[in-house]
Amino acid sequence: MDLIHIEAVVRPSDEGDLPAYSAGDAYVSGGTWLFSEDQPAARRLIDLSAIAWTPIATSPDEIVIAANCTYRQLEAFDWSALPAGRIFPVAIRSLSSSFKTYGLATVGGNIGLAFAKGMMTPVFIALDASYELVTPASAPGAPASVRLVSAAAFQTGVRQTILGPGEYVRAIRVPRTAFARRLVLRRAAHQASSHVTAMVIAAADPVSGAVTLTLSGALTYPVKFTLDPATPVAAQVDAVCAVRPLLADSHGGEAYRQTLLRELATEALAALAAPDHAA
Ligand SMILES: Cc1cc2nc3c(=O)[nH]c(=O)nc-3n(C[C@H](O)[C@H](O)[C@H](O)COP(=O)(O)OP(=O)(O)OC[C@H]3O[C@@H](n4cnc5c(N)ncnc54)[C@H](O)[C@@H]3O)c2cc1C
Repeated sequence: MDLIHIEAVVRPSDEGDLPAYSAGDAYVSGGTWLFSEDQPAARRLIDLSAIAWTPIATSPDEIVIAANCTYRQLEAFDWSALPAGRIFPVAIRSLSSSFKTYGLATVGGNIGLAFAKGMMTPVFIALDASYELVTPASAPGAPASVRLVSAAAFQTGVRQTILGPGEYVRAIRVPRTAFARRLVLRRAAHQASSHVTAMVIAAADPVSGAVTLTLSGALTYPVKFTLDPATPVAAQVDAVCAVRPLLADSHGGEAYRQTLLRELATEALAALAAPDHAA
């Protein structure tokens, strides 16, 4: 789509060259959503795709995924030493966008978009990730401001996040220990090519034995809770749905989506308990 209101495009290869925020600025990464519809409020595009961040960096303590890491880079990474990473290809294939977008669409774009049908934030919540958020310096020579927030606190509604004016996601930091978890993702959608109507990620921690459920897709934004083995799972899902707004749209009403969450949670937990489970 032609964005007829755009007056300037900035595409630095060095993060330090990002301009101070002005009203009408919009960050673009892969552009798979941004260029798919009119952006009447945007006057200047700030393209983050050329910044030379390492797509996926590993250290003894954590795995750091750059915001401009594409789905293709995330899929192609060798996750064999980090078993929970096998969930990324599963999550990517649960998007309704075509594989043709995988070389462009980015992790940061999916997070920043904050759709209820977003796939990255629920995965990162299940992995106890934190997001590194940056606001560029307001004047040349002044420092940029950086903060770290938990993935669980980032999204606050459909297309709503805690990002302030000019703030962008630089990186996603995941503790290495989280990659030892066993994860199972279960989703429901109208068709194989539709976006999710409801989604559940069950995770088992090998050290503590704790099991968590992350519910998404059916809710306006994702939520995670630790399973209480003494309470039926359906009742625990219902308790979450009583406090976290459910979504109602052409893909299904609230009661339908709540039922899907219960079913998917039960399925995911059964799969997690199976000896040869796969994400
Ligand atoms: C046919 C089709 C199907 C799709 N299906 C799905 C789906 O099932 N689920 C889903 O969630 N999305 C879907 N999308 C939307 C989109 O393609 C994906 O969410 C994709 O991951 C966005 O990444 P991008 O890099 O292309 O983002 P962009 O289009 O570049 O940006 C998306 C938004 O995020 C902001 N942004 C980009 N980078 C950052 C950053 N680093 N920090 C903060 N904000 C940032 C932009 O300003 C913009 O508001 C679909 C799009 C199309 C066209």
